[in-house]
Amino acid sequence: MPELPEVETIKRELNGRIKGKKIKKLWTDHSKMVKGVSFNRLEKEIKEAEIIKITRRAKNLFFELSNGKSLWIHLKMTGHLLFKSKNPTPQELNSLEGDRFNSYIHFIFYFTDGSQIAFSDLRKFGKIRLIKAKTREILKDPKKYGLEENGPEPLLKRFSAEKLEEILQKKNKAIKLVLMDQSLIAGIGNIYASEILFDAKINPIRKANKLTKKEIKKLYVSIKKVLARAVKMKGSSVNDYRDLSGKKGKFQELLKVYGKTGKKCSSCGKIIKRIKQGQRSTFFCPCCQK
Ligand SMILES: [Zn+2]
Repeated sequence: MPELPEVETIKRELNGRIKGKKIKKLWTDHSKMVKGVSFNRLEKEIKEAEIIKITRRAKNLFFELSNGKSLWIHLKMTGHLLFKSKNPTPQELNSLEGDRFNSYIHFIFYFTDGSQIAFSDLRKFGKIRLIKAKTREILKDPKKYGLEENGPEPLLKRFSAEKLEEILQKKNKAIKLVLMDQSLIAGIGNIYASEILFDAKINPIRKANKLTKKEIKKLYVSIKKVLARAVKMKGSSVNDYRDLSGKKGKFQELLKVYGKTGKKCSSCGKIIKRIKQGQRSTFFCPCCQK
């Protein structure tokens, strides 16, 4: 599932590409992606609207529209968005169409200038919902609009080491599961939880409320460091994730433990292990992570 770095990458690229564009029409072959209203209703409501700005909160994307409404998009397991200009160059077309993970297109926004955004989604869990409110109103009171409450954004300055400590102290649960709990901290999923804990040298099964002050400080630094670096590398394309132009991210080349079962730890040379936590795989080095 796309996590904070992947969704942030898509958000940044969308802001560079589709701000100011006007929606001409929509297309789908899977109208179940549209939640709350019918596909035809959605098209009526947003036709002619301009895209003002794209915002990310946790793993959610919001398209702010000129008609005072917002589109809430969740990529879920395997969704990603692809931009195609009016006259794509052969190179652009090759990135978009030369990769089978970009071919599961189930929804398209056509803009009046001839460009488009396509939603490619292999497993079809992605969601598009129209909300009759400005994005900042939604983010002020997410519950009112049917969104889950999300914990703080870990890359914002106001997410401090003290804030992290406050969150962890209340949780008598494995630290990996706490990091992945969206109601406590926003945007961290399975890949980055494993990588952050390796970076901080903390064993994923340790109880969150048993970490020492020193470990929390280290964990705090690792959260910021790993996520910021992954955003810089445009996310991880371990499987199907692609950026807006259909290209892979680069952070998968820097993964230290995620998906590395049986391989040697890059730090100590011992073997990376995989365990199950909350039905998900956790990867870690039992030697480096105490
Ligand atoms: Zn190691």
